[in-house]
Order: sequence, then structure tokens, then C-alpha cells
Amino acid sequence: MDYLTELKWFKGFECPQCRNTKYCNGDKEHIRQCTQCNYLFSPTSGTLFHKVKFPLLKSFYIVYFVSTSSKGISSTELSRKLGLRQKTCWLFKLKVMHAMKSSGNYKIEGKVEVDETVVGGQEEGVVGRKNDKKKLVVFAVERKGKGISRLYGKVIPNSSAKELGAFMKTYISPEASVKTDEWTGYVPLKKEFVNLKSRYIGRKKGENFPDLHRAIMGFKGWLRGISASGGLIICRHV
Ligand SMILES: [Zn+2]
Repeated sequence: MDYLTELKWFKGFECPQCRNTKYCNGDKEHIRQCTQCNYLFSPTSGTLFHKVKFPLLKSFYIVYFVSTSSKGISSTELSRKLGLRQKTCWLFKLKVMHAMKSSGNYKIEGKVEVDETVVGGQEEGVVGRKNDKKKLVVFAVERKGKGISRLYGKVIPNSSAKELGAFMKTYISPEASVKTDEWTGYVPLKKEFVNLKSRYIGRKKGENFPDLHRAIMGFKGWLRGISASGGLIICRHV
């Protein structure tokens, strides 16, 4: 509940009913009451954790398992792991999947880093080795504090301004502060993204934007199913 409170009100309280920014503590812990309209708010209201009839911690575990299991996880398996009814797990799993999908509706507005990389195939970054399974993927990560809060990725046929631009316009707000490397494909996009800065740091992929590449490594690990991803973060807009 402390964690959800922080996510919900980290910028301060604002009553969604009357826009008042003052509150007092409600009758129960974590509940905030608007001092003007007396409406009560819980950190879980408006999220998929609202009115969950089983322990909140178990619902966090379901989010974790659903988002990190490489081959997906069945409600029967969740039920066994967590000691909950299968139907309960099935219903909550649907909510989680729905919430993850909805993150596409929220463009990144703050700090974002964009880069492309090759995913799949045998050896990443081995030049000249033909492998049809290899895909070029463009990634965008949203920076928050010292870490990363969201990651978007899309398979693209090539790294032209057209392809990169289409991806960026879908997931990134035009006012966001965007950082890319010096690839020419990003140059025409400076018209659309007024705060786009390309910078040169290192020669090798990965020297640019270490956090972005750590997130991509986590994603690749998750894809291979050999490690649970520490880099893939669940959308905060639940
Ligand atoms: Zn109010």
C-alpha cells in the first residue's frame, strides 16, 4: 500500500472531483479524504488492485509472473503457486493483461532514450552472419529518477527516418526530451520532436545509454527465457 501510495501521489494530492489539493487522513490507513468535497480516495482506486478480494501481495506476484514468464503462465499454475482459486487467478490475469495493453495509450512525456538493436538469432551483433530470425528492433525507454519506468519496442524493417518516426510518434509525445545517437535516420525527426538531441558517446552499441541497453539485455534474456527480466518494467498507469 505504501508503494501504491507513492505511485499515485508522488506529485502531491489532487482531488479528481473538485481539483482541491488539500486532504486529511481518512478513517483507515492510506485513505485520503478531500477537505473540500469529503470524497475518500484509496491508493488502489482506479487501478487493477482496487477491491481485490485476496492479499495485495499475491496480486503483485500475479503481475510479476504474468509479465516475466517467457512462455506465459496459466491460471492453473498461478493457482498452485499462490494458493488461490483458479478462477480468481484467471480473472486477475485478464486484468493484468488488459492493463499492460493500455499502457500504449500513454505516450512518454518526460525523458526518453531511443536506440535500435538486433534481437534474436544466434549471436547478437555478429556482423555478416545471415540469420533470418534476427530482427531489427527500435526501443524507447522512459527515464524516471535514476531508473527506467517503461520500455517500448517494435520490430522495424529498416532504420529509416520513416520507420523510426512512425514508432516514435506512436509512443512518444512531441514535447518529450528525446535522446538518440547520431544516426542520420533521427535527423529529420527533429522537426516533429522539438526537444530531440542526438549525441555521440561511444563507438560501440551499448556505450550510448547504458540504462537503455541494460533494459534491452533484460528484454533479450526474457525472450530467450533464460532469465527473469529485471529490466522489463510494468507500466505504472494501471
Ligand atoms: Zn474534492
